[in-house]
Order: sequence, then structure tokens, then C-alpha cells
Amino acid sequence: MDSLIQYGLKNGSLVNIRKVKSGLECGCICPACNHLLVAKKGRNRKHHFAHYEVADCEYGLDTTIRYIAREILENSKKMILPDNVFSCGRDKYNYPQQQVIDIENVTIEKSLLLPIPEITIYSEGKAIKLEIIVTHDIDKRTYYKFRKLRIPTLKLDLNSLKATISSRNPKSVLKKYLLEDSSHTSWLYNKEEEMILAEFEDNVSSKKVVRKKRIDLVENCPVNEKDLTGYSTADFAKQCRKCKYMVDGILWDSDTNNPYILCSGEIGNSSFFSEWEKFKV
Ligand SMILES: [Zn+2]
Repeated sequence: MDSLIQYGLKNGSLVNIRKVKSGLECGCICPACNHLLVAKKGRNRKHHFAHYEVADCEYGLDTTIRYIAREILENSKKMILPDNVFSCGRDKYNYPQQQVIDIENVTIEKSLLLPIPEITIYSEGKAIKLEIIVTHDIDKRTYYKFRKLRIPTLKLDLNSLKATISSRNPKSVLKKYLLEDSSHTSWLYNKEEEMILAEFEDNVSSKKVVRKKRIDLVENCPVNEKDLTGYSTADFAKQCRKCKYMVDGILWDSDTNNPYILCSGEIGNSSFFSEWEKFKV
């Protein structure tokens, strides 16, 4: 791991190993844990920083990458945003949004949720957080915490390029994926997605599924005729599967473990979903 550390923090700025004196005279600290660094500029191994008298910390690479990214964004004053990709029921939609934004300011400071500093981009008076992942991904619990904060947050996942980043110049990789190619970036949260999902939910209702004689019956079908008790059911396999109002099913409620389907027939507004048809992926 130590050979990965090519950058140290000196007076608040990131400096490359090439630009400092050897040993403790380098005057650098680890950008992740603030521990003193020693510049190892010997003949046998690739020049690198190591933590002084202790083992290298876990988040050194992720933190360094974020400092370099901040520098790139600050200099280029722009960043490429990804499309809005989200799921509703069984369908996935890609709502095109990709664009290059102009950046007014970039900061890097202690993250509330992660042990690595966090980049905040300011564009058109709005703040967007940027999480760059190299060795430590964001776990599910933290992911939901991010969503709960309701702050627009991007995730640039470079885990698959880890080897390239640590062996070669990480700047060129970062430049490509921050400025030109959004294929590794996705939204952890953005307001637009939340609004679209709320609209989807308004056009869908859940229907209970009851299994009788090995047939899954969907209760309160809005399409089928009602029986004498004013009640209607649908055969899931024979009818719902082919029905234009079926959004998703069969699903299981995580609290009660009861099966249900999502149906848009109640609202009878199939045009809502047909409008979204073109964004399906
Ligand atoms: Zn450290």
C-alpha cells in the first residue's frame, strides 16, 4: 500500500513526492489521518511517502484522489454530470441530463458520514457533493443516510480502475472521468429524481395478491368486471402479466411479507407511463 502514496499534504496543499526533500524534511502530513509522512526517495523502490513510525492508514489513497480531484475541478472550472438513471418497479429509466456544468468554487472538508474528506462543488449558486470511491465503497446504510440528507450528491466510482490509478499518473484518469466521460459517475441523490419518483408513485397503487388453488389472484382489479359482492379479481399469470396497467409484481412487503403488485389501472392514466416509455432502458 505504501507505494501508492505519491502525494502528501504540505501547508494545506497536495504535493507530489518528486517536489519534496527526502525523509522527514519533506514536511508533509498524510491527507487522510494527518500523521507525519516520510518521503522515501531511495534507489531501489519507486519514490513514495510512508507514515512515520506507524503503518500506513487505510484511507490514504481515497483521500489523496479526492485532493487531486479538487485541484482538477478548481483549475478547469467545469465538470460533467451523468444522466438520471432510476428504477420504478420492474423498469429502469434513463432520463437524459448529461451536461457540463460551470463551477464557481470547490471545497474539500471533513465528511459527516465517511472517514474521508468530502468535495463540495458550487455551481449556479447550488452545492453538489462529490464522493469519489477507489478502495472503500459506500455501504447500503451510509447510502440511505446520504439520501436522507437530501443534498445533491454524485458518486464517481473508480474501483475498477484502482490498479491504473495507483500505478500510473492518477491525474489523467481523474481528468477523463471528471471532465469528459460520465460513465463512472452516478447520482446518489438528486431532487429531480425524487420528484419524478413521487410522480410515479402517484400514478400507481398496490394490489394484494392471494394464492388460491395454485393461482395467484390479484384483488380489486380495476379492469375486470365486479362480481355480485362488488368485488373483482384478476388472474396474475393470465391477465396481469399482459395488462398494460401492470407496473411491477409480484413483490413482497418487507414488513408483513405479504405479496402484492403495483398497478396503474386505478388512475387509468396509461399515458403517464407511455410518455416515459422512450426513457426506458
Ligand atoms: Zn494516513
